[in-house]
Amino acid sequence: MKQNFIGGRWVDGANAVPNINPSDLNDVIDLYAHADVAQAREAVAAASAASAEWAASTPQQRFDVLDRVGTELLARSQELGDLLAREEGKTLPEAMGEVTRAGQIFKFFAGEALRLRGDLLPSVRPGISVEVTREPLGVVTLITPWNFPIAIPAWKIAPALAFGNSVVFKPAELVPGCAWALAEILSRSGLPAGAFNLVMGPGAELGGALIEDRRVHGVSFTGSQTTGRRIAQACTAHGIKFQLEMGGKNPLIVLDDADLAVAVNCAVQGAFFSTGQRCTATSRIIVTDGIHDRFVQALTQRMAQLRVGDARTAGVDLGPVVDERQLAIDLGYIASAQSEGATLAFGGQHRERDENGQAGFFLTPALFTDTHPDMRINSEEVFGPVATVQRARHYDEALALANNTPFGLSSGLCTTSLRHATHFKRHAQAGMVMVNTPTAGADYHVPFGGRKASSMGAREQGAYANEFYTTVKTAYTAA
Ligand code: ADP
Repeated sequence: MKQNFIGGRWVDGANAVPNINPSDLNDVIDLYAHADVAQAREAVAAASAASAEWAASTPQQRFDVLDRVGTELLARSQELGDLLAREEGKTLPEAMGEVTRAGQIFKFFAGEALRLRGDLLPSVRPGISVEVTREPLGVVTLITPWNFPIAIPAWKIAPALAFGNSVVFKPAELVPGCAWALAEILSRSGLPAGAFNLVMGPGAELGGALIEDRRVHGVSFTGSQTTGRRIAQACTAHGIKFQLEMGGKNPLIVLDDADLAVAVNCAVQGAFFSTGQRCTATSRIIVTDGIHDRFVQALTQRMAQLRVGDARTAGVDLGPVVDERQLAIDLGYIASAQSEGATLAFGGQHRERDENGQAGFFLTPALFTDTHPDMRINSEEVFGPVATVQRARHYDEALALANNTPFGLSSGLCTTSLRHATHFKRHAQAGMVMVNTPTAGADYHVPFGGRKASSMGAREQGAYANEFYTTVKTAYTAA
């Protein structure tokens, strides 16, 4: 059984919950301790008690801790990638790539700890100088989703610690394995006891204790819109700084002048890789009339070649859906699209077993054509390997369709026209814009985040991460 990590000690929880492999329902990875509310409060208390010591650490100490964690993640990418693929269902190459990414993120923020800077200015008044510095927030609660079980924890934990904050980390219930492995590495990294705490268990039960507490100064959350809104209300009521990354309904426009192979590649990778379980996944493909039929034909041909199966089998392109609940959601949207009159051009079949007869949550990638903007399938986030095609007469209409969503995370365009690419980068209503590259697949050294209902608060990742994880102080000195 794997325990929680609170105040520098490994502790049992209220109960132990099995972690099941979605590619093989007979495979129980391990039992994971779920904390109770009292333990969640203890974790906040431990983080609060450690706060002054870690806030006073030198940039070199912070660099050393984060660099050590990054080095170990990179060295263990194969083993941890296997665990990630086993518990979440991403294919092995994708999972190993994600662990490597987590290692790179720790290395990047190790460097950021050394690079934190301030300003020294003369005052507008004589004889006075002004210093503008950044200080840690204090205690931060980090709540993460299941779809990137190690990269998202990394991109919250690494900057939180780099800038001197103490951390209470609550991973998603479905993926305690990677969270525990990361916590175990952090437990040996040289942090003072209590500076990092792992609390596993259901967010709905533990959320109150982890957020609504005077000792918590910041909450960074990635997950659903419903939970995000609830967290925003709780944080506002308690005067806590927050940062939310929620869903997307990301468009990919394919114009008549696009390179067909590039467009098909962007669509397949963006919509279906990682089983479409990415907040930056392409879900609405908007195609102009002149290329529509050729594009749909080439895309469905490519989809027919994708192999769905056990995430850890070599040659598999798409692993399973993460669990039974998400599978029911995906199938519900597939049924609703059909009843709304969309044409199922390819896939969408649930298979209870893979090619070796192993029981799992397998779903062939689904593509709908003849869809309209007012259909549910084009307005609500699915979070599965399901994409739609909408027709547009020209670029302007395609852009209007792309922006016609409450979300604004990532927006893509395939074109060979510099004019359209330039216009799109300026007018796409999204935090991230991708030209001739998939909507999913962001770098770690630049800001990540969206607009509209997709995000609230400061951007994550890159040098911008310090906006959330620090607070600014302006100091005046009369000499
Ligand atoms: P999903 O539908 O993808 O599971 P959620 O938003 O429910 O998305 O979950 C994302 C994270 O938020 C998970 O770690 C989950 O445990 C946590 N969570 C869920 N409900 C709450 C809540 N009321 N307060 C705090 N965290 C929550």
